[in-house]
Amino acid sequence: MTKPMIGIAPGTMVVDSQMFPGRKRDYVNREFLQSITDNGGIPLVLPVTLDEAAIARYVQLIDGLLLCGGHDVAPFTYGEEAQPKLGGIDPERDAYEIALIKATHAAHKPVLGICRGVQILNACYGGTIYQDVSYMPAGQGTLKHMQGQLAAYGMHNVTVTPGSTLAGYLGQMHLAVNSFHHQTLHKVAPGFKPVAMASDQVIEAIESTTDGLQLGVQWHPEMMQQSDSVEAQLFGGFVAACAQ
Ligand code: MN
Repeated sequence: MTKPMIGIAPGTMVVDSQMFPGRKRDYVNREFLQSITDNGGIPLVLPVTLDEAAIARYVQLIDGLLLCGGHDVAPFTYGEEAQPKLGGIDPERDAYEIALIKATHAAHKPVLGICRGVQILNACYGGTIYQDVSYMPAGQGTLKHMQGQLAAYGMHNVTVTPGSTLAGYLGQMHLAVNSFHHQTLHKVAPGFKPVAMASDQVIEAIESTTDGLQLGVQWHPEMMQQSDSVEAQLFGGFVAACAQ
């Protein structure tokens, strides 16, 4: 079988130095690349661009799209003003990823979003984001969602919706996941449904209810999958869907 090519939208950073102040870098943490290679796919990094023709060519080259973690999504993207606890943003990356998501989906190719990836996926289709977990209503978002270390360790539990695509991949309804997010989903985009919840009402995964696989998880399976076969199955299922 030909291995599917999985496009990866890279993270961005500014690497300041005396010689090159404000220098921008597109990067991918190797766990994302390994999660694809370990589970049957070939990763292809797709550098940030706002050139529509380049994005169209990217989509021709890939069989599916993986969105990585990183910056907060800029609040204007989902129609809100910035609140004090908003973290760093990169509006250029937001615009690129939204165009890439839409072009990939229009070509009937699957999309998997991880951490920031689930947030940009939600914002792309009209959903909103709590700019900090502390902005959730009283009594919600009370678990530790920024664990700070031990990335392969599941810090809080999630309950997965039976019958969802995510449940099919993971093969179980209850699991402990790692947690490295200070923002979290608020209103779920039209055409999507929550498919994993933490006990404090934080939405930990969403997937499309319409045609075509578009799935996002708030945790970081790529940092668990080498020691956790359940998380590896998430990538295995996604890569297999991209191969179809
Ligand atoms: Mn969490």
